[in-house]
Amino acid sequence: MADSDETADDERHRTIAACTSCGALYAALEVSDGSYLPIGRRDGCQCGGTAFDPVEGALLDSATEPGNADDD
Ligand SMILES: [Zn+2]
Repeated sequence: MADSDETADDERHRTIAACTSCGALYAALEVSDGSYLPIGRRDGCQCGGTAFDPVEGALLDSATEPGNADDD
């Protein structure tokens, strides 16, 4: 309800970013300095990494679904 302030301005900066440490994929937003931060993960990756590279062509669904259990 309180998120109505977020407009479509964020949409064009939204992408998929992969953690440079472990390769985990996240829906991410480009930040002003050209790096990317995972949405909803201000602390960075689950592995503790804070550097992410954008992944072009990736699907949001792939990043948000817990489907990377192969490596477990
Ligand atoms: Zn990671």
